[in-house]
Amino acid sequence: MKVMKFGGTSVGSAQRIKNVAKLITERGRNIVVLSAMAGTTNTLVEISEYLKCGNADGAKETLNGLIRKYSVVFEELFEGCDEQYKSATINAVNECFGTIRNFTETPYSTAEKTILAQGEKMSTALMNGYLQSQGVKVVMIDALDFMRIDANLEPEIGFIRDRITPLLTRHAEADLILTQGYICRNSTGGIDNLQRGGSDLTASLIGAAINAEEIEIWTDIDGMHNNDPRYVEDTKPVSHLHFEEAAELAYFGAKILHPACVLPAKLNNIPVRLLNTMQPEAQGTIIDNQFSASQKVIKAVAAKDNITAIKIKSGRMLLAYGFLHKVFEIFETYKVPIDMIATSEVGVSVTIDDDRNLQAIVDELKKFATVTVDKDMVIICVVGDLVWHNSGLETLALDAMRDIPVRMISYGGSDHNISFLIRKEDKVSALNSLSNQLFK
Ligand code: ADP
Ligand code: ASP
Ligand code: MG
Repeated sequence: MKVMKFGGTSVGSAQRIKNVAKLITERGRNIVVLSAMAGTTNTLVEISEYLKCGNADGAKETLNGLIRKYSVVFEELFEGCDEQYKSATINAVNECFGTIRNFTETPYSTAEKTILAQGEKMSTALMNGYLQSQGVKVVMIDALDFMRIDANLEPEIGFIRDRITPLLTRHAEADLILTQGYICRNSTGGIDNLQRGGSDLTASLIGAAINAEEIEIWTDIDGMHNNDPRYVEDTKPVSHLHFEEAAELAYFGAKILHPACVLPAKLNNIPVRLLNTMQPEAQGTIIDNQFSASQKVIKAVAAKDNITAIKIKSGRMLLAYGFLHKVFEIFETYKVPIDMIATSEVGVSVTIDDDRNLQAIVDELKKFATVTVDKDMVIICVVGDLVWHNSGLETLALDAMRDIPVRMISYGGSDHNISFLIRKEDKVSALNSLSNQLFK
């Protein structure tokens, strides 16, 4: 059994839902995970923001816009189908709209997560109704019945496994199992989610829980490309990546994959395949625990925005053991992860992407060091067979950066990457220069 996850664009219109329905019914009994239709989660965020500000009219108007959008989808999706499937689906989706509308009548408290959950509820209701209208024996299992995170927001794989296994046994006759990505329950039993883009994580957790043959992430592009297609022309799909390479790329900005989804698949040795819904025959990218046969190559480049660099200098760092401990302890106190580190005899530079507690951290650091902050920086991450004895690869990457001011470099932290910290305004030229140098 495979897990097949379809992202927002893949189910972004009635026609796309029909295409996915065809694709999944041709591929046997699998678990299908759907995101919300493209744009829906953003609209739900907007509704929830209006409510947070106490603007119920703004929320209602935005909700009405969403309702109009879905009414067009109903007509197109069920054109020529038996009326009963259309009305059952409309009822199911209207229930979601009703849940949202109720929050516009009551004071805003914990509405946000419940509102955000309606996008996946609606897309799966649409797919469920359409598949039934086509005579497919589909069973919908509610992610809120088995997907859970703990008090530290970590997925509870044991719980997920214990809950989903009997559900699958109960529905052994079903041709297809359908469920929602992204949504889950939290440690208090409330409705929650796996963060934006989290449907990839849902797929990976289900794959791990049922020991799936493969986890397929179906999206709008034919696999992980060797550079960010939003900023570089003529990027090419990479046919194979090791999990660790994929994790580096996902964490450092390759949006095609949610960074957290790599670990459950990696630990359980379940291959992840990235595929294109609009071009299903394309080979895509396979991600697994194998190292590529073609060693000594740089495979891909990614960029992570909104990075803050903090330079911490102290005359007393020289020979002072415990200095780094003191620095890191401050970041730990504020629960702020560090991405890059560069050290010298007189100082250390680190980067963070969560700057909510920046001022408090800087105040603490200033008690024993001089501190300089650079905001709006970008990490450029170059991934490949960068084992240290593969001489020359790091030089190739460095050469591509020759005209770009580099604030920090990190190399040797793993066998897979070299990272550069640069200014935001140099990002596009850095990505293009790396593509020209490494992949042409
Ligand atoms: P989905 O809605 O299916 O989850 P996403 O928008 O999250 O899709 O991810 C797919 C998008 O990721 C692509 O359309 C592409 O613009 C972007 N992307 C960024 N970097 C890469 C990369 N290296 N390879 C492929 N796609 C990338
Ligand atoms: N619908 C959610 C989002 O837009 C989850 C996902 O698409 O993976 O972030
Ligand atoms: Mg995504």
